[in-house]
Order: sequence, then C-alpha cells, then structure tokens
Amino acid sequence: MNSDNRKFLEQSCLERKFLEYLPADLSAILTGLGLPQFRLNQIRRWIFARKTMSFDKMTDLSKETRKILTEQFGSVLQGRESAHHQSDDSTEKLLIEWSDGERVECVLLRDNRNHRTACISTQVGCAMGCVFCASGRDGFVRNLSRGEILEQFLRLNSLLPDHERLTHVVVMGIGEPLLNLDALLSALNEATASEGLDLSVRRVTISTVGIPSGIRKLAESVVRNGKGYKLAVSLHAPNDELRTQIIPQNRFSGIDEILKASDDYFEQTGRRVTFEYTLIAGLNDQPEHIQQLVRLLKNRTAIINIIPLNPVLGLNFQTPSAKTVAWFAGQLELKGIQVKVRFRKGDKIGAACGQLRRVHRTNPTITD
Ligand code: SAH
Repeated sequence: MNSDNRKFLEQSCLERKFLEYLPADLSAILTGLGLPQFRLNQIRRWIFARKTMSFDKMTDLSKETRKILTEQFGSVLQGRESAHHQSDDSTEKLLIEWSDGERVECVLLRDNRNHRTACISTQVGCAMGCVFCASGRDGFVRNLSRGEILEQFLRLNSLLPDHERLTHVVVMGIGEPLLNLDALLSALNEATASEGLDLSVRRVTISTVGIPSGIRKLAESVVRNGKGYKLAVSLHAPNDELRTQIIPQNRFSGIDEILKASDDYFEQTGRRVTFEYTLIAGLNDQPEHIQQLVRLLKNRTAIINIIPLNPVLGLNFQTPSAKTVAWFAGQLELKGIQVKVRFRKGDKIGAACGQLRRVHRTNPTITD
C-alpha cells in the first residue's frame, strides 16, 4: 500500500468524497481495501450509465463490497439538494448545498431538438462583479472542487428519464471558469470520457469573462489533451470605456488583449470563438455600438450571441424590446457578422446566473 492509500484509509469516512478522486487514485484505494480492479469499472458504470448514486443499490456488487464502500465513502454524492425548481418550459434548476453550508445552482435545459443541456457552476459566488449579473453581488466565496463540479453533472443527468442523458454542457453558471480551470478540466474529463458520461467534447462550451492568460492556458490544455472545448467570451460592450463600466475586470486586460487571446485559441484549436453580448436597454444597444462591434469582429471567424438581459431583482437594468433586439441582430447580420439570438429559458425560476442562490439567501423562509 503506498502512502497515499494509507493516508486515505486513516481519514475519517466523512472526509472521503468519492468524486474527488481520479480514477487512478480510486483504483489504488480499492486495491488498498482488498477489492479487485474490475470493481471500479462496475461502480463507474452504475454511477455514469445507470445514474445510481447509492453504493447499496449497486446490486452486482457483493453485500460485503457494498458495505465496505458505504463505510468508506458514505454516498457517491457529497452535497444535499436544497431546492429544486421546475419552470413551464421544462427547465429545471437545482440548488445544491455542500458540507460547508455554501450553495451553488445548476440548470437542466431541454429544447425541441432533443438537446439536454447542463448549465454548471464553477465557483461559490464570483469575483468579476459584472454589474448586471446576480452571481457576483455578494462577492466571491471559494472555488468548487472537481467532485463538486462533477456532482452537478450527475444530479442533472439523474433528472432525465432512464433512456435520456445529457447531450450538451454550458459552463455558464456561477463563477469564472478560467479562474478554477484545473478543477473544471478534471471534472470535464470525466464528463467526456467514454466510460464516464460520454458527452461529446464538441458540445461543451466554456464561457469566460475574458481572461487572456486563462484563455491561453485552456488552449494549451486543448492542444495537449485533444479535447477541443468550445470557448465563449462575454464581450457585452464594443469599447473599453463601456466594457469596464459593465465588467470591472476589463480594466486588467482590455478588449484588444482578449481578442488576441481568442484569435490564438481559434488558431491553435480550430474552434471558432463565440462572443456573448448581453443586450441592456439604453446601455449597449445603440447604433454606434453596432458600428464598433462590426469593426471589432468583421475580420474574425467569430459568432456573436445576443442575449437579451434577464432582469435581476434589485438591479436597475432593463431588457430591450423584442424590436430592438431584432434590429440590433439584423444590423450586425447586414454587415456580414454571424449572429444568434439566445432564447431566455427558465425566467420564472430565476435561471440567470446566481439568482436562485441569492433568493434563498435573502429569504431563508422560502419553501420548495
Ligand atoms: N463568468 C462567465 C460565466 C458567466 S454566465 C462569463 O462571464 O462568461 C454566462 C453568461 O451569461 C455570461 O455572458 C454572463 O455575462 C451572462 N449573464 C449573466 N447574468 C445575466 C443576466 N442577468 N442576463 C443576461 N445575461 C447574463
């Protein structure tokens, strides 16, 4: 038994969290517990393919093995579901509470093309302070661990009927993913492994506020591991003055640096970058913004995603009219920019980042 295994066996059961361990570490741990290697594949099949999160229900394991696993790890999952909301458009949102009492949310989005999309969080709170976003209003608390990120996938996958599974992932929940990249990539590795959730790498989108060093680190990982995740950059404004007003983080990099890093991402990975543009009435939806955006994007192989603002309680920003949204998108298209308008889903359940977490914090008496 190596020293890692020994350390593991000496930990108290409550500290041992199954999803935190890489498959190779689990393999060593199972050996240390006297269990044969093939058990790990069996266990992983139960978790990822058969959506079974209780060792006790893994019926092709002997009673003794199930007992050992339960004694060692408790359950596969480490958090507790503290709220579950379902909206009319079949969007479902979970609020998960971790052992330290911190909470994050994750969302399951369904559409009529049979896409089953998981929207996941990477941090508790957010340090970016985007003025229209609920996630960062109470500041940053901590990074999520690999296991906590993976658990969101598993919980959302389990909301689907047995014959369905997740098809897409958007890392667009609470937090800035590129500031917790190692844990995110580790969880995505499992989500996209054939013996894991078997999600297609091409259907995973990581959305960032635009941190050039993080974009480069992600590109390096994509090149090294051949996992070409899609990158989305939250642009939201076509000039630095306005962008810094909307996204304070912009003062550290500026738009030029972000675009350069995005160009390099495309060049190195072959994946086109999407630019997100949350349209806010009277702020970034004016004719001059269209001209400036065209100037920024016209020679780039990029797509712009227009997201009409999802209003956040207590924030004084308005959603532009449907007419303005259509006009803004149409003008960009006329200038040869590829545009998509992203539909808002789950408005009634506060599906914009961080809204549910805040509601539950400011109104602890809420019942589910
Ligand atoms: N930190 C990452 C992920 C944030 S959430 C990032 O900044 O990209 C994903 C997208 O939703 C981002 O573009 C974010 O700016 C946007 N967003 C956040 N709150 C929103 C709201 N209330 N309405 C519309 N878009 C919002």
